[in-house]
Amino acid sequence: MNNKNKIKLIASGITLCFCAAAVGAVSVVSSRNGGGAAPAALMQDNELPVIILDAGHGGFDGGCVSAEGVPEKGINLSILLRLRDMLELSGYDVEVTRDSDISIHDSGVEGLSNQKSSDMDNRLALFNKYDNAVCVSIHQNQFTDPVYSGAQMFYSNSDSRSEQLARSLQSSFTELLQPDNKREIKLCGKELFLCYYSDNPTVMAECGFLSNPAEASLLNTEEYQEKVALTLFYGINRFVNGK
Ligand SMILES: [Zn+2]
Repeated sequence: MNNKNKIKLIASGITLCFCAAAVGAVSVVSSRNGGGAAPAALMQDNELPVIILDAGHGGFDGGCVSAEGVPEKGINLSILLRLRDMLELSGYDVEVTRDSDISIHDSGVEGLSNQKSSDMDNRLALFNKYDNAVCVSIHQNQFTDPVYSGAQMFYSNSDSRSEQLARSLQSSFTELLQPDNKREIKLCGKELFLCYYSDNPTVMAECGFLSNPAEASLLNTEEYQEKVALTLFYGINRFVNGK
């Protein structure tokens, strides 16, 4: 089965549950409804973790920009909103850092630099709001050489489960969307503020390169954004289920 068909099958599986891959994807639903054993890995008191999603940048901060002038902030948000719907349909409580094109700095803060700092502090506060949360920050990548493409996951060092989450998400991209992706997960440094200072299992998902024209055009379509959201959904779900 090619990857395009796999994605379509899994998309159908959210509601119809008929392909092997989708069985994992919907097992959370069945356990919430009392069927089957409770998912093991992250469960505390049989509760699903709260999923915290961050759409990188927003408002005055567009993030990186494609050659055609499309900023990543809108792509990040579109993927987040789709992913939120999928997770909520599967029974998760989901909180997001933003659901529109805004910076979430405190009111009254003056100056772009101070506003950016306040914005990041507020995002981090949400990442660390719960003891039992799984956090994913959605971004797009950029490099001087346009040849590079493909998703890459960066993980936090503060919770050992972050690496496992990154592996699940990275392999989901390879299995479902980008079969030629050979990228490896990486430990994040302090420059990835949210990821570095988060106390919960946290991954910064660089979903693709806006500096690669072909990938940038894909990322700018709703169809591909839906596929990326589904890939992240599958990876998060598999991590929560301990598979
Ligand atoms: Zn970014």
